[in-house]
Amino acid sequence: MSIDELEEQIEKLLDQRDQLEEKCDTLPKCEEDDGCETCQVYEKISAIDDKIEALEDKIEALMGEEEEEED
Ligand SMILES: [Zn+2]
Repeated sequence: MSIDELEEQIEKLLDQRDQLEEKCDTLPKCEEDDGCETCQVYEKISAIDDKIEALEDKIEALMGEEEEEED
């Protein structure tokens, strides 16, 4: 997979994340302290964060390879 494709995936995940965050903000539970620790929406957000991190790692690895090729 190319860096562009990976970046596109991250963009999509960030969009999803924004929508989930908006939803999370409207839940009465989430207004309480630590309410989000048990909120299902927040769980999904965390899962997306993990995916984004994994994609960013891949991009970094690919960028590293490209730099090596230039030398
Ligand atoms: Zn929440």
